[in-house]
Amino acid sequence: MKIDILTLFPDTVNAVLHESIIGRACKKGIVEINCRQIRDFTDNKQNQVDDYPYGGGWGCIMMAQPLKSCLDSVLEDNEGRSRVIYLSPQGQPYTEDTARRLARDYDHLVLVCGHYEGVDERFIEKCVDEEISIGDYVLTGGEIAAMAVADSVCRLVPGVLSDEECYTGESHWDGLLEYPQYTRPENWEGMKVPEVLLDGNKAKIDAWRHQQMLIRTKEKRPDMFSKLSLSEKELKAVERNLKGCVECRKAVPEDLHKIVDITKQAKQILQKRGIPQWLGEYPSRETFSDDISRGELYVLTVDGSVEAFFMLSGEPEPTYAVITDGKWSSDEPYLVVHRAAVSDAYRGSGLSDILFKNVERLALDTGRKYLRADTHKTNKSMQRCLRDAGFVYRGNVEVDTEPGFDPMRYAFEKRLKYKK
Ligand code: SAM
Repeated sequence: MKIDILTLFPDTVNAVLHESIIGRACKKGIVEINCRQIRDFTDNKQNQVDDYPYGGGWGCIMMAQPLKSCLDSVLEDNEGRSRVIYLSPQGQPYTEDTARRLARDYDHLVLVCGHYEGVDERFIEKCVDEEISIGDYVLTGGEIAAMAVADSVCRLVPGVLSDEECYTGESHWDGLLEYPQYTRPENWEGMKVPEVLLDGNKAKIDAWRHQQMLIRTKEKRPDMFSKLSLSEKELKAVERNLKGCVECRKAVPEDLHKIVDITKQAKQILQKRGIPQWLGEYPSRETFSDDISRGELYVLTVDGSVEAFFMLSGEPEPTYAVITDGKWSSDEPYLVVHRAAVSDAYRGSGLSDILFKNVERLALDTGRKYLRADTHKTNKSMQRCLRDAGFVYRGNVEVDTEPGFDPMRYAFEKRLKYKK
């Protein structure tokens, strides 16, 4: 790909395009970018490139002759498929599709930068193949637009980026916006990286990213979203978009069937991971029914559908009376979180973070200072949730469980902070 940029400010353009990724591609000879000073092609002694508009009006117009002579000089020794493009606010809106077309169909682009009030119309009529606008606003010159076109075309040329995937997964490639990206640290100013990205499960990560692309496109660019042809399943997944539609409320008996379903899903996962928790019939429909009648069971709904639950109780938990290999911070009354689970559909979606935020909110309303919870030592994902929510490991407690299974649990505690 060879790009010639016809401009009155070659130093400005060179400074930008010969830096970083595109600059390195130029050095390696993968792309060639030259800036031509239009002023060098004037046929008048003053090197004048512009003049007053016929008919009067504000500003000056770039003359056709220097532009044409400059253009001829770049076209004469070029044998490839050339395309002459005038950057103009009157051009077709520039998109990733245009960049792809230019990278695919041509090996020589001539980008003409206007200035002042624009260029003599006869030059456009005679010499320009297409006009491109980089947006519905007016710049003082075409240089910024030319640099945008050159940069976006060059990065599609094989060898400029390390892999095709570098651009095929990005925003606008398939009519979608890219998923959110994160880098270290895992927890920045209390904001955590979504859990699904941490467990290395490629299939799960891909599915999450795809869903995020759809959700983002819907939220940020409904115009793009409306052009997608999506399957029923994809549309449903997007509708389950978490933002702004999660509610936490006390569970009612009508929620029981969904709570039991989520429990089944959670038990399957525990079993698959070999975690000896929620064994046999526990926790049963009756367990949750009792929780509801005591007013201690809460559900999280997404768009009205129950997708998670937890039990929060102010009653002392008998099995926490004895703690080994450590101790609780205080003997003061505490609250205990038990029986927390998220549906399969929302596992790894961030709903568990929201769940623990609600636990804390409700706990703060009681005026108590401590929250306690427990989980089995092999239940790493629950331990991560607890730690992420600010709980700390305090020692081991022994719970009632099915005979033959490990009754020991890691005991966690969180000291609640009240705003002064
Ligand atoms: N008088 C022109 C009009 O109203 O259509 C605008 C001229 S503008 C001030 C000067 C030059 O900036 C143009 O010749 C063009 O090369 C460039 N330019 C301004 N806005 C642009 C845009 N949105 N996209 C591409 N080039 C633009």
